[in-house]
Amino acid sequence: MQLYQNLFSEFEEYVTPTDIIEFIYCPRFTYFMRNLGIRQYEEKRFKVQVGREKHLDKKQQNIKQIRKRIKGVSKEQEKYLVSKKYGLKGIVDEVYLLEDGTYAPLDYKFAEYKDKEFDTYKTQMAMYSLMLEEVYKTNVSKFFLVYLRSKNLLKEIEFDDKLRKKCVKYLSDYKKVIAGFYPKATASKARCIDCCYRNICEK
Ligand code: SF4
Repeated sequence: MQLYQNLFSEFEEYVTPTDIIEFIYCPRFTYFMRNLGIRQYEEKRFKVQVGREKHLDKKQQNIKQIRKRIKGVSKEQEKYLVSKKYGLKGIVDEVYLLEDGTYAPLDYKFAEYKDKEFDTYKTQMAMYSLMLEEVYKTNVSKFFLVYLRSKNLLKEIEFDDKLRKKCVKYLSDYKKVIAGFYPKATASKARCIDCCYRNICEK
């Protein structure tokens, strides 16, 4: 096992929620990409569907009603968030001030609702919630997802301590790997089939 010679902060590099999603998909993949300078071809990059879909049709009537549905008082759009504590950065679609005085992030997904991908989106939003707590010096208790291809299905998800701790653990594990720790391969061998690192990866 290699020593953790560097702390994450020394890299002066911020991690994004998408980086963490990729890491969860396969920690070993992150190791190759970040530590060995082996950049993957973009077209072979894992198709982690957490990108920022720009082709949103926010003019739809239902979208306009979102604020009403979630009891939002005001909102900020395309909010750039940075957490110095966790070395995290990202842009969330919207940040709402709710009637109860709390803040909540909301993201639109140009996707249909599917259980399989829900966890990925949930983790992504939990990362935004962590950042929001630091930037707004507040406690975030929930966040929202809107599935544009499922008739603007609105999902409200609780941001509880369990999820908060889970995110912090992901970030801690990620930092160890980019500091040199060689992680286990993904347990899902199906993920290796199209991986650009499969020829150098011992499984
Ligand atoms: S070959 Fe499999 S275990 Fe290795 S980096 Fe790729 S996805 Fe991960």
